[in-house]
Amino acid sequence: YFISFEGPDGSGKSTVLEQVVAQIAPQLKTQYLVTREPGGSVIAEKIRQFILDPANEKMSAKTEALLYAASRSQHMKETIIPALKAGKVIFSDRFVDSSLAYQGAGRDLGIAAVKQINEFATNGIEPNLTIFLDVKPQVGLARISKERAGQEDRLEQEKLAFHQKVYQGYQEINQSHPDRIKVVDANQPVNDVVKACVRIIENCIPR
Ligand code: C5P
Repeated sequence: YFISFEGPDGSGKSTVLEQVVAQIAPQLKTQYLVTREPGGSVIAEKIRQFILDPANEKMSAKTEALLYAASRSQHMKETIIPALKAGKVIFSDRFVDSSLAYQGAGRDLGIAAVKQINEFATNGIEPNLTIFLDVKPQVGLARISKERAGQEDRLEQEKLAFHQKVYQGYQEINQSHPDRIKVVDANQPVNDVVKACVRIIENCIPR
């Protein structure tokens, strides 16, 4: 069973994911795996470092989209597919929807084009459930500048206009996959966000 977590920068995704897994894990009858994108395997993490390296800031949108897809293809082969075959529950911090939102909408490549290269990368394998942590870009970016100031230059440089396009992209994706994607209000205190996510997973996951 494959669960992905999505959300704009500053949605609290990584913190929430960690706490959700801690609460759900004792209820699981099978093994589970926590992974992230870009990354989730040694080669995929190397591609992540390359994409996010500020020295590569001139990278074209298409190159970026192809590298995210390349990273994902490796993540599928080494991590996701073996875990699915072993019957594990997979929790992934980001998956294809991130590429559709960031490169498709944010970097103007178009959601359809980015979807196409990712179908090639994943052989069309999709999460069973996606949790979208919903926070407006203004709020997310304000959280980041408070908590991560000076730590991630790339994040600081990214502009509100870009994140507004990303957010619009996510809205479009969420609306076209109402069965798979569940939206959680991430303006709430972390504990409440975690509770809402746990409830959704408990209701969806096969037992
Ligand atoms: O989720 P996380 O903070 O690990 O993502 C790392 C960075 O990569 C973020 O700045 C995010 O906006 C960016 N990203 C992206 N395109 C993706 C996935 C992540 O620009 N497809």
